[in-house]
Amino acid sequence: MLYGDGVFEGIRVYNGKVFLLEEHVDRLYESAAAIRLEIPMTRPDMAAAVRDTVGANGISDGYVRLVVTRGAGTLGLDPKKTANPQIIVIADTISLYPHEMYEQGLKLITASTIRNHPQALSPRIKSLNYLNNILAKVEGSDAGCVEALMMNHLGHVAECTGDNIFIVKNGILSTPSTDSGILEGITRNCVIRLAREAGIEVRETTLIRHDIYVADECFLTGTAAEVIPATSLDGRVIGDGKPGPVTRNLLARFQKLTRGS
Ligand code: PMP
Repeated sequence: MLYGDGVFEGIRVYNGKVFLLEEHVDRLYESAAAIRLEIPMTRPDMAAAVRDTVGANGISDGYVRLVVTRGAGTLGLDPKKTANPQIIVIADTISLYPHEMYEQGLKLITASTIRNHPQALSPRIKSLNYLNNILAKVEGSDAGCVEALMMNHLGHVAECTGDNIFIVKNGILSTPSTDSGILEGITRNCVIRLAREAGIEVRETTLIRHDIYVADECFLTGTAAEVIPATSLDGRVIGDGKPGPVTRNLLARFQKLTRGS
């Protein structure tokens, strides 16, 4: 509570089924291991707690937020003075971006705030300290954008404040590799799999901003956002300024997977 000393997950529920629950539970435990927080519950029990909370709240299409804090301690920093980590499961509904943005695309700006240096606080950890992302998000909203692009400490493209980023160029799908200082998104990995199943070549690589400026298409992925087209960056129109065919194909495949239609 005092220092953001904990980890979390955001998970979707579609048609009464918790989507990619095992992947989310695994990432939660990996984030916890990375900050040396021992979650006092087994992974299967955690998964059951999520399903039970969804059921108890009668949610068939919604969102679950799993939060684990290190528990009460003293006012100091020493985690050894805390015992009793706390687990919170919130089951709710979610609507992140307006519907028309899925059809027309959203605009991005590049935030001047870079993503956390991986050797300071690894972006692979989904920790309760999201100030880095929030500061970049504020830059985006000041510029009238619902998302903002964040670079890493090397000046390469990392991700957006709460979403991963993909581009399409000459039919090839590219996204920053996991060593680019990003959260390894579960939606990202799902979309990579869907793209490969569809016969689309996928590269996890190093991207610079120029690659986005000259891309044919660009889209973002996230649990809450799902797959959403991005049609401009820093005032430069991406491609023809409309969601492109590969983006629409993958959005349709993602919707089929989650909603069966
Ligand atoms: N990057 C960041 C910084 C995030 O917080 C998130 C989750 N909102 C993502 C990427 C997307 O990850 P996922 O697909 O697992 O939700």
